[in-house]
Amino acid sequence: MSNARDLTIRLAELLSREQDAMAEFLVALADFDRKRAWAELGHSSLFWFLHRELRLSKGAAHYRKVAAELIQKHSELVAPLRDGRLCLSTVVELEKVIEPGNLAELLPRFFHLSRREAAEVAAAIRPVVRPPMRDVVTVVATPCPSTTSVDADCDNPVVVQPHEPLLGVGSPAASAVVPLTENLRRIHVTVAKRFLAKLDAARDALSHSHPGATNESILEAGLDLLLARHRKRRGIGARPARNGRGTAPGRIPAEVKREVWARDGGCCRWPLDGGGVCGSTLRLEFDHVVPRGRGGPSEAANVRLLCRFHNQLTARQVYGGDLMDRFTREVPRVSEPSAA
Ligand SMILES: [Zn+2]
Repeated sequence: MSNARDLTIRLAELLSREQDAMAEFLVALADFDRKRAWAELGHSSLFWFLHRELRLSKGAAHYRKVAAELIQKHSELVAPLRDGRLCLSTVVELEKVIEPGNLAELLPRFFHLSRREAAEVAAAIRPVVRPPMRDVVTVVATPCPSTTSVDADCDNPVVVQPHEPLLGVGSPAASAVVPLTENLRRIHVTVAKRFLAKLDAARDALSHSHPGATNESILEAGLDLLLARHRKRRGIGARPARNGRGTAPGRIPAEVKREVWARDGGCCRWPLDGGGVCGSTLRLEFDHVVPRGRGGPSEAANVRLLCRFHNQLTARQVYGGDLMDRFTREVPRVSEPSAA
C-alpha cells in the first residue's frame, strides 16, 4: 500500500504541474489576445491563431479562447484554474451565465464539476426558454460499430434525435444529455428498430389507462416497474416483510436490508485509504462485517452495503484467496482498478 501511496503523491504532483501549466498558458494567451498579437501574425481572431498556428483542434481552440477572454475580464478565475477547482470545460459553462457583479456568488458553484454538472448548474441559472419537447426519429446511415452488443436489428439503428446540435458529453450509458432547465434534460439515444416497436406496443397497451402518453411517461413507467422489481428482489422495497417469518436461517431479514440500505445511502461503504468511501452504486451486495461463518449476526449493526468488487475483496481477506477462488470466478486484484 505504501507503494500505491508514493505513486499517488507522484501523480498528484504531476497533476498539479499540469493545472499550473494550463493556468500559465491561459494567462499568457490572455495577454497575447489583449495585444491582438494574433492580428500581427495575419490571423483574423484568437481562435484561428490557436487552430492554425498552434494546431489545436477547433474544440480545444474554442475552450482556450473562451477561457483567455474571460480571465481578461475576471482575473479571479486564474487561481481556481491553477489549483484545479475549475477546468477548461467548466469555464466554458461558467461563461454562459456570468454577468456583471454575479461572479463572487457564481464561482464556487462551478468548483470541482464535470462538464455535464457545470452545464446543469448553468441551465438552472439560465434555463432554456420554451425548451423543445419534440421527439424526432431519423434513420442513421452509418454502420453499427462492431463493439456494440449482438443485435438482430443492429444494421438498421434508429435515432430519437433532438432538432438542435447536442452540446453535452456522453454518459456511461452512451447517451448525450443536455440540461435545458433545472428539471428538464434532453437526451440523445441511438436505439434499435425493435426498441421503437416495443415503445409503440407499450403505448398501445397503455392506451386505455394513459391515453396520449408521451414517450417520456411510457419509458418512466417502465423504469419504475424495473426498479420496483429490483427493490423487491433485493428485499429493500417499502413494503414491510410479513413478520420476518419468511427469512431462512442465516439470511438477512428484509427489514434489516431496508434499514441498511437506507442507512448506507444505497452505495458501497468500503472505506478508502485516503478517506471517504467507495460510493459505488453498481452491483451492490449486503456484507456481514463479522462474517456469518464466524458467528456474525444478521443485524443492521453487523451488515453493510458493499459493491461486488469490495465484497469479494473483504471475503478474500477473511477466508484467503485460495478458498475464494473455488467459489468465485471474478478475482479482485488490488493492483487493478475496481470496475465498480
Ligand atoms: Zn466498492
